[in-house]
Amino acid sequence: MAGERLGILGGTFDPVHVGHLAAAVNVRFELELDRVLLVVANQPWQKIGTRPVSAAADRLALVEAAVEGCEGLEASSMEIDRGGISYTADTLAELQAADESAELFLVIGADVAPALSTWVRLDEVRRAVTLVVVNRPGTEVVEPSERALLAGWRTCFVEIPALEISSTDLRERAAAGRPLDFLVPPSTIRVIKERELYRGAR
Ligand code: ATP
Ligand code: MG
Repeated sequence: MAGERLGILGGTFDPVHVGHLAAAVNVRFELELDRVLLVVANQPWQKIGTRPVSAAADRLALVEAAVEGCEGLEASSMEIDRGGISYTADTLAELQAADESAELFLVIGADVAPALSTWVRLDEVRRAVTLVVVNRPGTEVVEPSERALLAGWRTCFVEIPALEISSTDLRERAAAGRPLDFLVPPSTIRVIKERELYRGAR
């Protein structure tokens, strides 16, 4: 029997928004993935020192609320459970150890692709996954196969609806008291309110 086709969308998700969710459901559909895990970074090493990041437990709760009832999407706490700084290479190794037959698809937005060369243990990541790049407004899309950087990678590009939304903008909106409706699922907005997140955040 063929192994599970498993998508991995890693992120800080501070907060999760419909851009993340549209990426996950559309990649799942186009590539016929069984599941897509939204893996919440414990300590995103790229963001350390740049700004305060919300507590991992809060960010996980937001993602759990967002994917509730959405078939094939799952919130994953594996990086939080592991603790410390989150490296994708460790996450992939853990997923491979849990199910050797699984085929892994690592989903990234076009904004992340240029920074890939800075990733830790990049060789391991390359061996472990098919890299799936999705378009993101504000970043020019270069087909993964045309990126010299990605020579030797299994790659594909999936076009998704262009949604010009970022967590950075949402934190600013929330801090200014502006509505998050239709940018963030209602279930997630409820958790933001319950936990009093992003008040006065910049
Ligand atoms: P921040 O502004 O804090 O960086 P973000 O909106 O970029 O937040 P991340 O948690 O950094 O969200 O992103 C996780 C992953 O989702 C990354 O691969 C990113 O490229 C992708 N992504 C985020 N928003 C979108 C979007 N609107 N369209 C496509 N991909 C997206
Ligand atoms: Mg980002």
